[in-house]
Amino acid sequence: MSFEVLRYPHTVLRRQCDPVADIDEEIVQIAQRMAETMYRDRGVGLAAPQVGISRQLIVVDVGEGLITLINPVVTLAEGKEKMGEGCLCLPNITVDVERRARVRVTGHDLSGREVTFDAEDLLARCFQHEIDHLQGKLIIDRVSKLKRDLALRQYRKHLQDDGQE
Ligand code: ZN
Repeated sequence: MSFEVLRYPHTVLRRQCDPVADIDEEIVQIAQRMAETMYRDRGVGLAAPQVGISRQLIVVDVGEGLITLINPVVTLAEGKEKMGEGCLCLPNITVDVERRARVRVTGHDLSGREVTFDAEDLLARCFQHEIDHLQGKLIIDRVSKLKRDLALRQYRKHLQDDGQE
């Protein structure tokens, strides 16, 4: 059973998420439902706050298999790269976001084992995007005010056209 994805400006998206202390059955189920939701909506990543759960949990799949990470942190970052990025919480818009080109991300998998990923390209970008969500940060916070205003105007126009506002 998949989740419904929250849309900007839902307040949960702005909250700093709590770390996961125990990997219990509930967390495992949430992670599975998050993966289903990500695949259903054809995303390459999803963070728990996007489905209304303010916990530090992300799922990612850039075409190399599903990665589930609990309490992920970036422990090393190198280089910079700018690329167009979208977000399931902000449908119909993309903005150019500058991110670190290569990152090392450490967290725990669903069995509680510590895991580390050295990522580049799309995977590096995706990790940074999802970890941003855990800190209440969105793609529109990573661009200039001018570009943010432009993107949000476009976003709201689409919402009106869809009759959702
Ligand atoms: Zn997002």
